[in-house]
Amino acid sequence: MQQITILGSTGSIGVSTLDVIGRHPDRYRVFALTAHHRVAELAVQCEHFEPQVAVVGTAQAAETLVRVLAEKGIKTEVAYGEAALCAAASAPACDVVMAAIVGAAGLAPTLAAAKTGKKILLANKEALVMSGRLFMDAVGKSGATLLPIDSEHNAIFQCLPASYSRVPAGHGVAKILLTASGGPFLKRAVETLENVTPEEAVAHPNWVMGRKISVDSATMMNKGLEVIEAHWLFGAAASEIEVVIHPQSVIHSMVSYVDGSVLAQLGNPDMRTPIAHALAYPERIASGVSAMDLAQIGQLIFERPDFGRFPCLKLAYDALLAGGSAPAILNAANEVAVQAFLDRKIGFRAIDRVIAQVMETVAHGEVTDINSLLEQDGRAREAAHSLIS
Ligand code: NAD
Ligand code: MG
Repeated sequence: MQQITILGSTGSIGVSTLDVIGRHPDRYRVFALTAHHRVAELAVQCEHFEPQVAVVGTAQAAETLVRVLAEKGIKTEVAYGEAALCAAASAPACDVVMAAIVGAAGLAPTLAAAKTGKKILLANKEALVMSGRLFMDAVGKSGATLLPIDSEHNAIFQCLPASYSRVPAGHGVAKILLTASGGPFLKRAVETLENVTPEEAVAHPNWVMGRKISVDSATMMNKGLEVIEAHWLFGAAASEIEVVIHPQSVIHSMVSYVDGSVLAQLGNPDMRTPIAHALAYPERIASGVSAMDLAQIGQLIFERPDFGRFPCLKLAYDALLAGGSAPAILNAANEVAVQAFLDRKIGFRAIDRVIAQVMETVAHGEVTDINSLLEQDGRAREAAHSLIS
């Protein structure tokens, strides 16, 4: 029986994870669930899955949760704050950690899981983009197992040999082909992008996701973050990672080999497939996802991305090439700009302008430890805030 901590259990990935786990009570037990503010939803999850621990963001949220759980007669322990998140992710009783908090808030607990040798199912790409080598070193040192949940990276993982050792050339890998839907604005006239609303930006054509990643998909910063994520997960250089627009999101990504073979992983766009794959790896379990009907899909379409339409994708490649803390600065500026867009403080195209300006003005340096990383992340956030206000 595997004991699982789900960081961010009330989010889109968290809910899909609980759906898969609920189908296999003989294999998995929930050790801890965490949420930021959505106490009522967390209480319902606690009622169904009876975790040992539940973690929320604030003392006030914890008080509410304690009261609701007491009324229902549920014995789950309640804690709050970052230290409690880290404890839930590194507890000796926990075997597997689903890292599904959105953004930099997930870094500390995901790193805690990496340092304590857990099996980590990584959805929280921002944590890896920010901490890069620090994170991979922690995984290597503790012997943790890192399995990608992002559908593209999970697809790539499935297309690589089981013995893959993060050296593409050593395995005959020529290129990683990262597919991208292009989001809701793939065909919209570029001049009109200035005026799109948050509602239009979060309406993804193929996937239902949290608001932040949905905006990232509309700017294609999501794909940019995924290029950096692929660099760290698979040891591929920027020149070995190519983005291919594939609006249907049927092929989740591909690996191109030196002999001309291209291996792809296909499936309906439903995150329960990569979640079930990583949970059971190397076995296979049912996920609840319906079988694919290829004849119904009919045709698969591909095109090249346009950096003019999607400047965020170019900014992310630039940050990867610059190295050091540049990806962390990119990520921090993006988080601030996307939140400001969702709060209607800036327009859609201001997102890429803010990030470009922060990249230009905030000097990037080496990331030697977590403190230097957080210091540079903080400076980038400050710079982004001052551009917005
Ligand atoms: P979401 O917004 O639906 O959920 C986020 C979760 O994180 C919630 O449970 C929330 O309570 C928690 N959270 C938010 N801020 C927090 C904070 N400051 N402290 C502690 N907890 C906090 O997001 P999502 O769509 O589920 O995405 C989660 C992560 O997975 C993101 O990094 C995203 O990029 C990645 N991802 C998501 C999808 C998808 O299909 N949704 C696909 C690939 C990767
Ligand atoms: Mg993805």
